[in-house]
Amino acid sequence: MSIQMMKAAEQKLQQYFGYPTFRPGQAAIIERLFAQQDTLGIMPTGGGKSVCYQVPALLFSGLTIVISPLISLMKDQVDGLNEMGIKATFLNSTLTGEEVVDRMRGLRRGDFRLLYLAPERLEMDSFVRFLGELPLSLVAIDEAHCMSQWGHDFRPSYLSIRSWLQSLPQKPAVLALTATATVDVQQDLMQHLDIAGENTIVTGFGRSNLKLSVRKGIDKAKALEQFLQQRRNEAGIIYASTRKEVEHLYERLSRAGYGVGRYHGGLGEQERTEAQEAFLLDQKLVMVATNAFGMGIDKSNVRYVVHYNLPKNIEAYYQEAGRAGRDGLESECVLYFSPQDTRTQTYFIDQSELAEERKKAEFHKLQQMVTYCHTEQCLQQYILQYFGDQIGDACGQCSNCLDTGEAVDVTREAQMVLSCVKRMRERFGKAIVAQVLGGSSNQKVLEFGLTKLPTYGILKGMTLKDIGLFIDFLIAEQYLKPTDSAYPTLELTAKSVPILKGEEQVFRKIQVQVEQAEPLDDV
Ligand code: ADP
Repeated sequence: MSIQMMKAAEQKLQQYFGYPTFRPGQAAIIERLFAQQDTLGIMPTGGGKSVCYQVPALLFSGLTIVISPLISLMKDQVDGLNEMGIKATFLNSTLTGEEVVDRMRGLRRGDFRLLYLAPERLEMDSFVRFLGELPLSLVAIDEAHCMSQWGHDFRPSYLSIRSWLQSLPQKPAVLALTATATVDVQQDLMQHLDIAGENTIVTGFGRSNLKLSVRKGIDKAKALEQFLQQRRNEAGIIYASTRKEVEHLYERLSRAGYGVGRYHGGLGEQERTEAQEAFLLDQKLVMVATNAFGMGIDKSNVRYVVHYNLPKNIEAYYQEAGRAGRDGLESECVLYFSPQDTRTQTYFIDQSELAEERKKAEFHKLQQMVTYCHTEQCLQQYILQYFGDQIGDACGQCSNCLDTGEAVDVTREAQMVLSCVKRMRERFGKAIVAQVLGGSSNQKVLEFGLTKLPTYGILKGMTLKDIGLFIDFLIAEQYLKPTDSAYPTLELTAKSVPILKGEEQVFRKIQVQVEQAEPLDDV
């Protein structure tokens, strides 16, 4: 019966949507819904989540309810479905009382296949009673990460979904969908909605047309100039983390003769709209922006996305970088790393209004972002792993896959760093560990009496910056772990023990791209 249902579903996909086949994740989700299994679907933006409930809605006998927090998009979504000949409606606070009554009547008559709702409706007793009278086949929860306190956009109204579902006399199939669930959020959602591991489908995060790269230890301004010079006729976005930095880059690139637009929250609405339009129409090829730019922008020919500063986490990075190459053609996503940017993001989190627990979680995510910049693993694989997607072969085109640097044995240096951390009783952060190893007579080092340690100055031959990068490498390879705080201290890990005992070796690719040293204390 399942094969027949899937055939029927594919036929609807062709008939209404005009796509020949389901994407693998879509098929896996729809199959489960037909088998009445509650399912969690995690796909990136543009992965094709809506088809996962819109097609079943055409085949189930009862109504499909779609819960979404995006009230402003509901009308467009419903209009789009109606244009395709799919009967759908929505109920939210933008409607008059009369319109609501009218639509409710239609729902009672069975006029609609889909009903879009904001979660707040489920907090209204009379409305919940009304829903209880309708034959419900499927409940799709869009933006399901809003249900998790660990998600980046927790909404208390989402908590009413669960008790509402439990109160229903006849249980519909449930599909939770999101684009941005880390493994923690996934687990939270599975637990919340009682969804089994085999019914959690993570798919589609791989983007084979994106060439990911990280550049560190460079003069960023110079590197950007060189990068843009070679791409004069291509459209791209440059993200910076502050308005000031956007303004600064905008000025500089304008002066250098680039057709550049700017976008950030400090500009007036009209100016922002104009900048956006000019970019969409290829009148200005380069957009310099903060992360305020890009939501809902559908420009297919963005050939590159440069992150001039470090984003706050991998979700944010991949969402922004993913705006490149929507047309499927080869595109570049370049991230410039400098240690100062880690401090800026740390500061943002520290100054935020978040509760302590959430701050810790954000520091942890930031650390995973920093690790992306220092890992030697395939960058695409690193990202897939982060989202819990299945990992295939190394991409073969990211800066790590293409790095032909020779792997050298750095076991001795690693032992020196690890034993220094140990002797410092795992109570100090990266900068001061580097200073001790480098033999700096910085005030703090003197104050804590660290010059007496046997590990003081044992990496004197290296610059503090290089020691800092080496520590970053050891963190990325999980030989060291920073605590999740604004002032992380370094701790040893289970992986560091065999290194200290000389039972295992550490290899590192030789770094070749240092162009201009940063100030010595900048580690
Ligand atoms: P999401 O909600 O995950 O951001 P959408 O449901 O809006 O994504 O789908 C994004 C785009 O993916 C759609 O506009 C459509 O072009 C495309 N799409 C979805 N499913 C398929 C499919 N099975 N085959 C081809 N294209 C598809």
